[in-house]
Amino acid sequence: MGPEVGELEAKLAQFVAVQHCVSCANGTDALLMALMAYGIGNGDAVFVPSFTFIATAEIVPLLGATPIFVDIDPTTFNLNPAHLEDLLNSFPQKFSNLKPRAIIPVDLFGQPADYNEIMSIAKKNGLMVIEDAAQSFGATYFGKRAGALGDSATTSFFPAKPLGCYGDGGAIFCADEAYAATLKSVRVHGQGKQRYEHIRIGINGRLDTLQAAILLAKLEIFEEELSLRDKVARRYNELLKGKDIVTPVIGSERTSAWAQYSLLSSKRDTCMEALKAAGIPAVVYYPIPLHLQKAFSHLGYKKGSLPVCEKIAGEIFSLPMHPYLDAPTQERIVRGLERVTG
Ligand SMILES: *Cc1c(COP(=O)(O)O)cnc(C)c1O
Repeated sequence: MGPEVGELEAKLAQFVAVQHCVSCANGTDALLMALMAYGIGNGDAVFVPSFTFIATAEIVPLLGATPIFVDIDPTTFNLNPAHLEDLLNSFPQKFSNLKPRAIIPVDLFGQPADYNEIMSIAKKNGLMVIEDAAQSFGATYFGKRAGALGDSATTSFFPAKPLGCYGDGGAIFCADEAYAATLKSVRVHGQGKQRYEHIRIGINGRLDTLQAAILLAKLEIFEEELSLRDKVARRYNELLKGKDIVTPVIGSERTSAWAQYSLLSSKRDTCMEALKAAGIPAVVYYPIPLHLQKAFSHLGYKKGSLPVCEKIAGEIFSLPMHPYLDAPTQERIVRGLERVTG
């Protein structure tokens, strides 16, 4: 928590154009702290998409609350607002003893979720919206930056994210001053006005000064890296045109931070084998939707519960993506796929 941490928080808040940024140790702590500061706990229902990284959902039962998994849109892979509404309409009959409290939409692979719809559903139902912007830092939605799209937002600076440090780091963004003050207290063991006075349960959520210094330097070239990522994505789109494969779809009035460039193929496993044979490191994000993970088996979801998540998890894979990928390398990657895609 050296001087670079405060400097970084001010610069990140300015970049996102929100009032407050509270840095923390990683993106998972950011989500945990965001829920703790809203007082989420026993008996609370928190809506999360099932097609995301485990961190989005695992912090919910950690606090004694219950995740309710929402299906996704088949083209953007983000939370489907219509399914969210269906689930809310089934309260309290289907979920007795649970009180709907919050939604955590995820901006998957770098593309913001459908916040116009989600915020209006949240308002109608009195729910908090916590944007999981771990993969979308730098993206935009109707001219606003990711990190400014919910009541609060969290991000991660893990090296594989669009703005990465050299280890772990994270941050929470919000407009509300009292909420920011609570987050700062939660970050240091629920500290009160004085040291060794604790007014709530908290954690050790501090960001290392070393990582803050690295992020300050990397933030200087971040806009340029975002436009380079966009160029790499466009080049993939061009190279893959006319092939038997579904390239990413970015909704209108939004840009992606391109954490991943993710494709769909009904012959996904053959694609992965072909890429592996060509020495290309492709990865499947994510092979098992969260509602079918053993860790959540006590919630009683079955195969077929969330059909879109399940279909996408069987067809998706991601090609190498970073700002410095050059045209010859991308051509080699696409050639590696041609045995399958034509
Ligand atoms: C990476 C990631 C997180 C967690 O971030 P960490 O810094 O690794 O703890 C949370 N949500 C999503 C969607 C992520 O991709």
